[in-house]
Amino acid sequence: MRVNPEKLKKDFPIFSNNPDLVYLDNAATTQKPSSVIHAVSDYYSTVNSNVHRGVYKISEAATEMYEGSRKKVSEFIGARDPSEIVFLRNTTEAINLLSYTLGRRLKKGDEILLTEMEHHSNLIPWYFLRDAGIVIRFARIKDDFTLDYDDFQNKLNAKTAIASFTETSNVLGSINDVRNLSSMCRDNGTISIVDGAQSVPHMPVDVSKIACDYLAFSGHKMLAPAGIGVLYGRKELLDEMHPFLGGGEMIGEVGYNNATWADVPWKFEAGTQNVEGAVGLSAAIDYLKAIGMDSIRSHERSMIEHIFEVMNSVEDLRQFGPLDSDKRGGVFSFNIGDVKPFDILNQAATKFAISHSIHPHDVAAFLDRSNIAVRSGHHCAMPLMGRIGVSSTARVSPYIYNDAAELDLFFDELSKCRKELGR
Ligand code: PMP
Repeated sequence: MRVNPEKLKKDFPIFSNNPDLVYLDNAATTQKPSSVIHAVSDYYSTVNSNVHRGVYKISEAATEMYEGSRKKVSEFIGARDPSEIVFLRNTTEAINLLSYTLGRRLKKGDEILLTEMEHHSNLIPWYFLRDAGIVIRFARIKDDFTLDYDDFQNKLNAKTAIASFTETSNVLGSINDVRNLSSMCRDNGTISIVDGAQSVPHMPVDVSKIACDYLAFSGHKMLAPAGIGVLYGRKELLDEMHPFLGGGEMIGEVGYNNATWADVPWKFEAGTQNVEGAVGLSAAIDYLKAIGMDSIRSHERSMIEHIFEVMNSVEDLRQFGPLDSDKRGGVFSFNIGDVKPFDILNQAATKFAISHSIHPHDVAAFLDRSNIAVRSGHHCAMPLMGRIGVSSTARVSPYIYNDAAELDLFFDELSKCRKELGR
C-alpha cells in the first residue's frame, strides 16, 4: 500500500487544531493519531487500575491489556517470546539498564565499541563505566557519512565485551547494516546492542533476522505516548542479568536478609508501570501495521529522494548524510554555510565550518514564521558535530503524514531565509 499523507493527516488532531502546521521534527517525536489518543483515554475511562496485583475484574482487564501490548511488540519486532520484551521509559533508560547490568560483569581494561555517530544516550551510559577502567572505542565514519565497517571489524578484539550502535543516525540519516555488525560481534564473542530509536518507527526491523543480542527503542517516536519504551533482549541473556531498579513488582520472595527476583521480563519492571503508555503503544503498532512498515520505508525514501532533487535550489546549502537513498533514512541535516559538502570531514576545513553563514537556530526561527517546525542544535550528538566540523545543524525529518508539497514549501522558505539572512 502507498502511504497517502493527505488522508493520514486527518487521523491526527494536531493538524486540524493547527491547520498551517508543517511538522518536520519527527526524529524528535511524532504526532499521535486519534486511535492512540482514544486508546489511552478509553483505558482511563474503563479499566484504569494497577496491574498484576488486583484479583478484581478491572485489574485483570488492565493486566491483560498490558501483557497484550507486550505480545504485540514482540510480534512487531520478530522476538521469539513476549518475555523478551521489557517495558521501560525510553531508549535512554534501556541503554542505562544495559550499561548498569552488563557493566557489573566487566573488568578493568575490557573494551566497549561504539560508533562516531551515536546519540548521547548511547554514549553517556557507557562513559559512566570509564570510572571502572573500561575503555570506550569508536568505529569511524567515512567521508560519505556511512559507517566504516572495516574500522568496526578492526576495532573488535579479544577485549571487546560489548558493541552498541545505532541502526539509523538521528543526524546523518545513515542506515547501518546492523545485521552485519551483529554478525561481526557474534563471531568475536561480543555482545551486540542496537539503538533502534530512529529505525523501528521507520522501517521493518526484525530481531530474528538481525540476530542482535539487544534492541532498544522509544514509543514516542512511533506515534505512541511518551514515557513508554522497549528493551528487547535474548531470553537467555535477560535471565542471567542482575535487575536494574529494585522495588515492588520485580521480586520473587523478600525477607529481612534475602530476596529473590521475579522471572523476566518483570524482574526489570520495578514499581508501578506505565500501563496506559503500553496500551497506547499497542494502538500505535496497530496503526503502523495497517499502513505497513515496508510502505513507510518507501514513503520516506521517496521523501529523501525528493529532497535530493530540490536541495540545490538553495544557495550555499551543505547537507550531512549519504547521498544514496538505500543507505539513508528520512533524516536531513543541513547548514547554510560556505564549506563544500565533501570538505567537511577534513580537519583543515573545521575552522571554516564552524562559522555558519546563517546559524541553524536562525534558520529554524525563520521557518517557524511560516509554521514550519524543524530542529536546530547539536541533536544530542555533540561528538558527531565535532567530527563533521560544525557546532550544530538544522534538521528536517519527515514521517507518514508529510508530503512532497510540504518539502517544497520548506525549500521555498529556506531560499527566502538564505536571501534575507545570508551574509
Ligand atoms: N538514540 C537515537 C538515535 C535517538 O535519535 C534518540 C532520540 N533523539 C535516542 C536514542 C533517545 O531517545 P529517547 O529520548 O526517547 O530516550
